[in-house]
Amino acid sequence: MARVHIIGAGLAGLSAAVELAGAHEVSLYEAAPQAGGRCRSYFDASLDMTIDNGNHLLLSGNHAALAYARKIGGDGRLAGPDEAAFDFCDLERRQRWTLRPNAGKFPWWILAPDRRVPNTAGLDYLALVKLLFARRDQTLRPFLGSGEIARNLWNPLFVSALNTDPGEASAALAGAVVRETFAQGGDACRPLVAVDGLSAAFVDPALDFLRGKGAEIRFGAKLRSIEFQGDRAAALDFAEQKIELAQDDKVILAVTAPVSADLLPGLSAPNEFRAIVNAHFAFPAPKNLPLLTGVIGGATEWLFGFHDRLSVTISAAERFLATPREELAEKIWAEVQAAAGFSAPLPAWQIIKEKRATFAATPAQDALRPGAETRWRNLFLAGDWTQTGLPATIEGAVRSGVRAAGLCAGDL
Ligand SMILES: Cc1cc2nc3c(=O)[nH]c(=O)nc-3n(C[C@H](O)[C@H](O)[C@H](O)COP(=O)(O)OP(=O)(O)OC[C@H]3O[C@@H](n4cnc5c(N)ncnc54)[C@H](O)[C@@H]3O)c2cc1C
Repeated sequence: MARVHIIGAGLAGLSAAVELAGAHEVSLYEAAPQAGGRCRSYFDASLDMTIDNGNHLLLSGNHAALAYARKIGGDGRLAGPDEAAFDFCDLERRQRWTLRPNAGKFPWWILAPDRRVPNTAGLDYLALVKLLFARRDQTLRPFLGSGEIARNLWNPLFVSALNTDPGEASAALAGAVVRETFAQGGDACRPLVAVDGLSAAFVDPALDFLRGKGAEIRFGAKLRSIEFQGDRAAALDFAEQKIELAQDDKVILAVTAPVSADLLPGLSAPNEFRAIVNAHFAFPAPKNLPLLTGVIGGATEWLFGFHDRLSVTISAAERFLATPREELAEKIWAEVQAAAGFSAPLPAWQIIKEKRATFAATPAQDALRPGAETRWRNLFLAGDWTQTGLPATIEGAVRSGVRAAGLCAGDL
């Protein structure tokens, strides 16, 4: 029976494997000792607890990601408010508000002052409509303007969704996010967080699912090169072993963009990346703190309140890469106390700087993203950096895996 060989056990590779396992023979190879790639949990010795490599936020409109979580049985580990509600805290102006898009598609919430950003008018929100028609060569800033709403909503929203400064970010990719979330109404905008950790929701149940379906999973299996014969991939060369591919075998390459570019001669792929900084503090969230708070007027952008820790995300974080970790921890802890409304000495902390968290979501980089098909008839690509039409997100990664799996299954 033909076999599908999937390289890379991030969410793209895992979702491809989950799609195919059971109906087809599947082998999943991962270079690291664990699965999950950029979306996983690990035990952190300095905090003495299991944390995520970075806080991840989903929205209820992320249908592919949620379908994947449901299929593997991880959806029960996602939590969030029953309706779309985003608490914000402005550290400079000492002001708080809650953004509450209404559930249905007609956005009457923008006419309700207690549901929108303070000091904004309903018309300010029309920027979202314009974004739906953005061209792929346009950058985001001109769509957002520079008023209150840009400072208090568009910047925090789009910097985190695209992990790229709006001055250089793609307006079309921002439009794609809006089309699938805000344009669908509040029902598609409920924030969801993996409260027991990313691995418990997205990775461990997938590995159990795959093992249950008889898939072969190998860790520490780093693909070094691919041998080609004419229009097909003929062999996979791992450090330990070379695997000759049968005529009908398929390969899904679900590794990062730079690794794919090294493995595949002539591949067009994004080659600029943006950083995300996460700060984790071993301090249980105070009872009245929401699961998620948007923070304005500081370095902190989003504050996550977990039962055992407080965690902060800063996107497009190049400006902090050279800042000493201790300095960052002190600064962010001061902001966390102000945002959460308490005072306490700096607890045990961890700062994680992911330098290449995502590809830079600029028009130029977006144009470099390849589709799932390659010039080799049995080799397909998956990954958040392939042309999913979305920025680098869990939703994009899962969709890319499902698409590659569909192409393989169609051929088999
Ligand atoms: C800090 C941080 C915060 C984020 N926040 C969010 C968020 O809030 N919401 C959201 O939706 N998304 C977020 N993202 C993005 C999201 O994590 C990614 O889009 C997604 O995890 C990408 O999955 P992937 O499978 O495409 O790639 P990866 O996770 O990079 O998977 C690639 C896998 O391939 C393996 N590999 C590499 N080379 C080889 C080789 N030669 N042989 C075998 N295996 C190999 C790697 O070890 C890795 O496991 C965030 C990312 C980071 C880093």
